[in-house]
Amino acid sequence: MDRQYLVALDQGTTSSRAIVFTREGQVRASAAHEFAQHYPQPGWVEHQPQDLLDTTLRALRDALSSGGLEASQLAAIGIANQRETTLVWDRKTGQTLGRAIVWQCRRTAPFIERLRHDGLHGMIQARTGLVPDAYFSASKIRWLLDEAGAQEKAERGELCFGTVDSYLAWHLVKGHPHVTDATNASRTMLFNLVRQDWDEDLLKLFNIPRAMLPQVVDSAQVIGETDPKWLGAPVPVAALAGDQHAALFGQGCFGAGQVKNTYGTGCFMLMNTGDRPVKNDKGLLSTMAWRLGGQPTFALEGSVFVAGAAIQWLRDELGLIKTAAQSEALARQVEDSKGVYFVPAFTGLGAPHWDMYARGMVTGLSRGAGAAHLARAALEAIAFQSNDLLLLMADALGHRPDALKVDGGAAANNLLMQMQADISGIQVLRPRVGETTALGAALLAGLALGMFDSPQQAAAQWQLETAFAPAWGEDLRARRLAGWQKAVDAALYEASLRRND
Ligand code: ADP
Repeated sequence: MDRQYLVALDQGTTSSRAIVFTREGQVRASAAHEFAQHYPQPGWVEHQPQDLLDTTLRALRDALSSGGLEASQLAAIGIANQRETTLVWDRKTGQTLGRAIVWQCRRTAPFIERLRHDGLHGMIQARTGLVPDAYFSASKIRWLLDEAGAQEKAERGELCFGTVDSYLAWHLVKGHPHVTDATNASRTMLFNLVRQDWDEDLLKLFNIPRAMLPQVVDSAQVIGETDPKWLGAPVPVAALAGDQHAALFGQGCFGAGQVKNTYGTGCFMLMNTGDRPVKNDKGLLSTMAWRLGGQPTFALEGSVFVAGAAIQWLRDELGLIKTAAQSEALARQVEDSKGVYFVPAFTGLGAPHWDMYARGMVTGLSRGAGAAHLARAALEAIAFQSNDLLLLMADALGHRPDALKVDGGAAANNLLMQMQADISGIQVLRPRVGETTALGAALLAGLALGMFDSPQQAAAQWQLETAFAPAWGEDLRARRLAGWQKAVDAALYEASLRRND
């Protein structure tokens, strides 16, 4: 039988999914399994490594059986994964040093703070494009080695470090290749963006032996075939990419200035910046888009901390709605937010403000303002915050991007998407396949196999579902942006009062 399907394994923070695509980019079958989160101390987050592997394999097998498919029909597997999450394991036995430290885990924040005191943040940012933070893998590796007293073992080459792509590939592929792709490498805070290699000075700084680091491969590259013990027949593993990077690819953002935003609990916006990393001093990260045929493509990345989470707050804390989707109907009961602005800075404000003391604020309440106005303001807040990132990206690019491609759970909200078009003054394009991370991983795998001649040809698989055109005039836009800015200023002012307490 023809090997006609591409499978994406999307190993995320709360679940592992497998999606089988046709060569035309249509979903043929899928399955997902959640796994346990471990919180051993406040602020600490861990995953059981075996859970990551087991749920991924179960999702893959379930997707195949629900579609009546066999492994022998699969052309290739592409892996997209939660980024930065850190594992260290024994090269011989596969035994891990404890659990995986998840990207969200704050345990190494004091270590990162010490680097700031030592004046090292600038150097780290210049080399890696990242604003130093406990999210990234470097300080997590250091913590795992210290905790296990395993430095010497690592130096002898007996340990492997890997992000989740690396860990899955090591287990799934025959011969246990120890690899990671350039996008995942770029989230470790050890990878030199310009040189496209591990940075010797950073390895010294963190005292991490090169012997434990994976080989950095392209995002679309055949790494090997799965061990037949897993699926009954070998299948090439042909792509690795961090989830946000895979989504940028799945959205067909191949040209410099093309940008996507993912609306989930938070938002992740990435813009392709072409063949050079772009510096940014407003807190956007400079990162990889992907690496193909040895050629790196770069991106700028920004995130909104609280997006869909503000809708959850309306649902869970205020009880205004029963489901997140109901936010749309509630907000549609009124024509505008009646001067109400909601700054959902529950955990501080990110780019471009960077104030961790900021907290949530509702401004402009009048006697007639009610639940519908608040729901509207909450949805607008998601769009305003995303627009603040888009403005930074436009600044770096030199002009406003032509369009914004969207995905993620909250992108299903038509009102929110129209607000985004109005607030940003650009076309908002929602694709038919909302699983852009998985689609990107599958297309990267197809590209590695030569199914497509170029990324552009792979992009032909991207299909528009709905385009939202901006309807506001420039006057209204300017007035509303000024209103939002005032509300943010109020939140920043309030934070400054509390900071001085
Ligand atoms: P994540 O991957 O971060 O878990 P998802 O992409 O699954 O997030 O999206 C879930 C988030 O989107 C939740 O925070 C939820 O409140 C929000 N959300 C989902 N559907 C809608 C909707 N129709 N309108 C507004 N928000 C929504």
